[in-house]
This record gives sequence, C-alpha cells and structure tokens, in this order.
Amino acid sequence: MAMVKADGYGHGLVECARIFAGEGAAAFGVAEVAEGIALREAGLVQPVFVLSGLLPGMIPALLQYRLTPVVVDRLILPELSRQAQRSGDEIGLHLKVDAGMGRQGCLPAAVPGLVREIEALPALRLDGIMAHFPMTDEPGSQNTRHVFGRFTDMIQDLADDVDIVLTGCCFHIANSGGLLRYSMTRLDMVRPGIALYGYYPEGEPGRTGAGTEALQPAMRFVTRIIQVRTVPAGTALGYGRTFTTGRTTTLAVLPVGYANGYLRSLSNRAEVLVRGQRAPVVGRVSMNLTLVDVTDVEGLVEWGDEAVLLGRQGNETITADELASWMDTISYEVLCLFGNLNRRYYLDLNS
Ligand SMILES: *Cc1c(COP(=O)(O)O)cnc(C)c1O
Repeated sequence: MAMVKADGYGHGLVECARIFAGEGAAAFGVAEVAEGIALREAGLVQPVFVLSGLLPGMIPALLQYRLTPVVVDRLILPELSRQAQRSGDEIGLHLKVDAGMGRQGCLPAAVPGLVREIEALPALRLDGIMAHFPMTDEPGSQNTRHVFGRFTDMIQDLADDVDIVLTGCCFHIANSGGLLRYSMTRLDMVRPGIALYGYYPEGEPGRTGAGTEALQPAMRFVTRIIQVRTVPAGTALGYGRTFTTGRTTTLAVLPVGYANGYLRSLSNRAEVLVRGQRAPVVGRVSMNLTLVDVTDVEGLVEWGDEAVLLGRQGNETITADELASWMDTISYEVLCLFGNLNRRYYLDLNS
C-alpha cells in the first residue's frame, strides 16, 4: 500500500499514485474520502484505503467510488451494512487496532467481538486488520517489538477462537520504519510513506547508517533571485530588525516566504544554495520575501539566478532533514509544507 495522503506528502496525489502504480503498488492509502475520489476520477483502479476514520455521511461516496473503509470501532457498522445492502454491494473492510500507538482504533481486546459483529451483519466482509507503529523512527527503541507483539498476540487469539474463521484476512502494520528496519513486521502488506519520497523516518542518521540502500529525495524547492542589492554596515534587515549587517553586505532577495511554507522559524537560521554554495538567510522570513547574505558567495550573483531552498545545486545539497532541524520539526512536515503550497513541476530524471 503506497501512502499518498496529504497530497502525496506534498508531491502530488495523482501524479505519485500513477508512478507507484506503474512500479507495482497494489493499493493506496489516503486520509480522506475526497482523496480517494480524486484517485478514482484519475482512473486508478487499485484498492484505496481511507485511513483516518469515517462519518455516516461519507458512506455513499465510499460505495460509489469503491473505496475501502478502515473501521475504528463498531459505531459505523450498522449503517455501513444497511447502505451496502441497499446498493446491492458487499463491502470488504479493514479494522484498525490500537496495538500501542494510542491514537485511533479499537483495543486488541475488542477485536474478537467486532469480528463477530462484522460477520453477523449482511453485506459486510472483514478483509483485513491493521495497526500502526508509534516509534519506528527510533531504531534503537524496544517499542516496535512490543507493539508488534501485541498485534501478533491479537492475531493468535483470533486464530485460537473456534467461532471465528479468518480466511484471506490481510494483516498489516509496517510503515517505512517497520519495512526498512524490522523485516519481521512486513506480514501481508506494508504501508510505506516517507520512504517512497526518498527520506528515512529517523531523519539524516537513516541516510548515513550502515547497510541501508540510498533513498533518493524526490523534491526540490527552487526559486529565482528577484533582486540583488548591496547595503552598508549597520543596516537593520526586515521586520523586527532582527539582523544588523556588520559589514557592507550583498543581499539576494528571494520571492519566497512563509506563504510558501518557508516558515518564519527559518529566520536567521536556514541556508540557501546560490551558485552551488551555501548562503545564510538573514533577518525575518516574511510572507513573500526572504533575504540571503550572498557576500561570501564566489562569483557574480545576479538577478534571476536560481536559488535552491531544498535539494541539490552543484555539489551541495540541502535536505528536508536539515530544514527540519532548523524548523524544529521532521522531514514529513517540510515536504507537506513546501510541496502543497507551491507550484509543482515533474521531471523524469531517467529520460
Ligand atoms: C502515514 C501512515 C503510514 C506511513 O508512514 P511513514 O512513516 O510515512 O512510512 C502508514 N500507515 C498509516 C496508518 C499511516 O497513517
């Protein structure tokens, strides 16, 4: 199951789904019904799992677009059964178990009862049971083994229950971290997200760790310098005057700001690539403009030159993990922000 929620982690829902389908993805994972509809309208035929829960009003669209419901408790079941019967369909659903994530789903102890309830309701079929890991981004943690143990214990309890027949039930729990670091968690299906976009859940250490295949980050965030100007020493820059030049300073003005997801927390912290060299962001990032000190950049920096906020230029690279450290967050959030707030262009580097 290729996770394409949040508009493909900022990379584009439909574009990514088409690529992943071409590479053999058997199913897609989205958060919302609307994302599932967009995949169907784009012609994708694979199962689409709606993972973030459901409300009764979503059932007609679920049926119409043949989306797979992920059920978190018993409340939706009677209505799901009623509407499926009325439309003459049988719905194959998956159950979401909280095996230690502590967020959403039913507790393992509630599963046998739910399974019986689903079996008893007309037009409903249990196709799978899933859980989610909270800590695979910390490879040293024992938590993943513990949560996996709770999940497999639950499966064993179901298998031991003489009243329950589980044929063809798909068990799945592994996200990118489970898939990459805990091979025993792969079970019947895996649900990678961040790894598909070229990042490791644990951030930069994942890339440099031994024995890992090098994932290639897919996204670059690039702009063009909208003005180059030189100001004297002692000039206070931008809102709040948070940076004062200590020397004659050449500034590159970038037409990018927090409206583009280049958050204010990057003020006086981030670096940008200009002419293949790192240059510091100076002063506050504002809504649509950011200042970069290019005084030390070798060669002439000119109006219209490319500036790279994320990705490679020449021999230098700024990764989403590095940006995440400046923004005090994780690569996932950087990719969603940059990708979903800006125009996207797709390049096939293999052609
Ligand atoms: C987002 C998500 C994933 C993917 O997680 P990554 O860490 O990006 O691999 C897998 N399963 C569920 C239920 C999710 O919500």
